[in-house]
Parts: sequence; structure tokens; C-alpha cells
Amino acid sequence: MKAEIISIGTELLLGEIVDTNSAYIASRLPALGIDLYFKHTVGDNLDRIADTIRHAWEHNDLVITTGGLGPTEDDLTREAVAKVLGEELYVDPELEAWVRSIFARRGAVMPERNVKQAWLVPSARPIPNPGGTAPGWWVERDGNIIICLPGPPAEMTRMWQNEVAPELARRNPGIVLITRTLKTSGMSEGSVDEALSPLLKATNPTIGVYAKPDGIHVRLAAKAATESEARAIIEPVEAEVRRILGPAIWGADDDTFEKVVGEMLVERGLTLAAMESCTGGLFADTITNVPGSSRYFRGSIVSYATDVKEMMGVDARIIEEHGVISDETAIAMAAAARERLRADVGVGITGVAGPDPQDDKPVGEVHIAVDVQGATSVISYVMGQAREQIKRRAVSQAINLLRRTLSS
Ligand code: AMP
Ligand code: MG
Repeated sequence: MKAEIISIGTELLLGEIVDTNSAYIASRLPALGIDLYFKHTVGDNLDRIADTIRHAWEHNDLVITTGGLGPTEDDLTREAVAKVLGEELYVDPELEAWVRSIFARRGAVMPERNVKQAWLVPSARPIPNPGGTAPGWWVERDGNIIICLPGPPAEMTRMWQNEVAPELARRNPGIVLITRTLKTSGMSEGSVDEALSPLLKATNPTIGVYAKPDGIHVRLAAKAATESEARAIIEPVEAEVRRILGPAIWGADDDTFEKVVGEMLVERGLTLAAMESCTGGLFADTITNVPGSSRYFRGSIVSYATDVKEMMGVDARIIEEHGVISDETAIAMAAAARERLRADVGVGITGVAGPDPQDDKPVGEVHIAVDVQGATSVISYVMGQAREQIKRRAVSQAINLLRRTLSS
């Protein structure tokens, strides 16, 4: 099955928002055995949307659009599909009742403009949207399919997972592609590649080595007629990669440092607290992005100002002697976090996020300490220019140090 994705919206065309929807959909097509041949982006203009859809419809079996299903005058996807198919738009009474009921539940009167969200054409059936007021369209004619999904990513992905992907999988029992990503830490891209070189020439599964912010990833991809056959192709090769790379592998697929660390803390019955300076709370944000983190995370003190560090239990003499940006201060912060917040494990992060140097320390210098029941590990480095990137890297390094400390 040949497919094309069309992203609709002037904001996308002009780069005011980034087109994450098409990346999301594109990344999910291989597992369904669907070949993506084209992606197009078009602004909110009826003729140009219709031309883009017509071209895609003539050259592919499957066209997936996102955006332009809202109630406003510049939401033109339905009109464009109707134009391409030469079909009449009509208000579907059942859909209209559904859209009205959503407004009623919110205690609001539906603006008349929203009636267009109840439009259909004869070849379209609605795709339920549990998260918004815009149902999608599943259009089928002459053996071709057009799927129209709304723009807001949360609504789009939910509809994709609940409605679209299962239906496409049912209709396209051709070839499936299954991937498995193994994540390593502490090895360079070259050394991973070298270690795996006997395996890299394989064509099924294919093996790719990629450098990512959380380490080097090894991606195995297998094609087969069914998911279980594809898994059977991957499994022995995965075992071989695991044997070769051994303890460098810290996780797979959707694993993150914070998720893996959370599992380790739960397993060992330990609680965690932090005192963060240059990361301004981002450590706590990242840790609490993991569902169930309340089981081990006690909290974090954002001690941005030096005197707040002292107020929160960091000895002023340490700061006086070694400076705020130092291993000693990071260690004292980790210990203070552990004591003040009554946790088993403390993390201290101090550094220069920039753009200006601080206390003669360069932008990007960061000191991170982990204190596990009084035993401390500390790292420091100078890396990065952009403020946001320095903060993110500091958090990632801190969680990775925590992971390494807990696993040693
Ligand atoms: P629309 O349905 O086209 O009015 O889009 C509504 C909102 O969804 C836009 O303002 C964006 O915030 C978001 N959106 C639309 N298309 C995309 C896309 N391709 N990728 C990410 N976000 C999008
Ligand atoms: Mg819009």
C-alpha cells in the first residue's frame, strides 16, 4: 500500500509551528506494512489543498491529512475533499447532535460555525474524536482511502491509536516491520559500531547505530509476514547484541534514564530528593514525568540564589572556600537535600547555564553530586553554549549518574 501524508495549515507552512503530526504518522506506517512515498505541507487555501489532495489521491492508495478540521473559516479540509471527489457536503444529524452535546456538557452554547464539524460527504464516515469537537473522516472510494485527522497532536495521536491504526492493520495484513532499540551508555558510536561489525551486514533484521542525547542506540528492524515472525527474526540477533555489549545496555525502546532509575529506586526501597541550582526545577520536572514517581520522589529544593542554598542547609564555609560552582558545593547540596527532605538519596546540581560566565567559571560548567545514604559520587564537565541545552544536559547527566551509582 502506497501512502502520502498531507499536513494542512498556514502556520506549518511558514514554520510558526513544527509539523510533528506527519513525523508521528510516518514513524507508525512501517509497522503496518505501508510504504510512505510522499509528505506535503499546504497552507489554508481551498484550491491548493484540493490540488494537493487530488494529486495524492491519483498517485497513492492511501492519503492521510492532518489539520483543517476546526470550526473556523480557514479550516478547509472537508471542503477540499468534497471538491476532489465531486461530492456534496451535508450535515449529518447524528454528528450534529454529538457536537452539540459536547458543548452542552461544557455548559456552553455551540457557535453555529461548529456545525461544519458535523459535515460529511457520501463516501465519508466519521472517526470518533474523544478528545475534541472535530471528528475525523474516513473516506473510501474506488479502492482508495483518504483519512482526515484533526491538527491538535493529542487528539490526532489518540484517534490514530484507537481507530486508525487498528483498522489499517486489519486491512493490510501484508508485511510488517518490527523494531527493537537497545540503548547504551558509556561507549562511543565508533566502539559500538566496531563491536557489532560482524552483525551489521545483515539485511533482516537490519542493524543501525545512532548517537542520541542519552547514549548510543542500536536499532534492529525486521520484516516478516506477521508480527510474531518478525519478532522471531529479531530475538536471536537481540540476544547476540546483548551478549556483545553487555552491561553497556541500560534500556530498550521507550525506556528513559528517569524511568529506569525510578524502577531501581522502587526495587531497592529508596527515596530520592534533590537540590537544584542551574537546572531551576527541571530535574524535578523530569523525574515526575514518570507515572508513579510519587513512590520514591520526595521533592526538590530550587536553591537558585546562594543564600537560599545556605538557608536550606549548605554550609556557607564550603561555598566561601570552594565557590558556588564546585564539586564540594554540589556534594553539600546533595547531602542537604537528603537531610532536609528526609530521603535516602540526594542529588545536587550546580553550574553556569549562561549566557554570562559566573565567578570566573565558563558557561556550561556543571557539577553534579549523588549521595546514596552518605556515599557520594560526583562528576563535572564543561559542555554546551545554549542555556536550555545546558540545563537539559545537566538533568540527563544527573539522572545517568544516579543510575550508574545505583547499579554499581
Ligand atoms: P487546525 O485543526 O489545522 O486548525 O490545527 C489546530 C492546531 O493543531 C494548530 O494550531 C496547531 O497548534 C496544531 N497542529 C495542526 N497541525 C499540526 C501538525 N501537523 N503538527 C503539530 N501540530 C499541529
Ligand atoms: Mg485552524
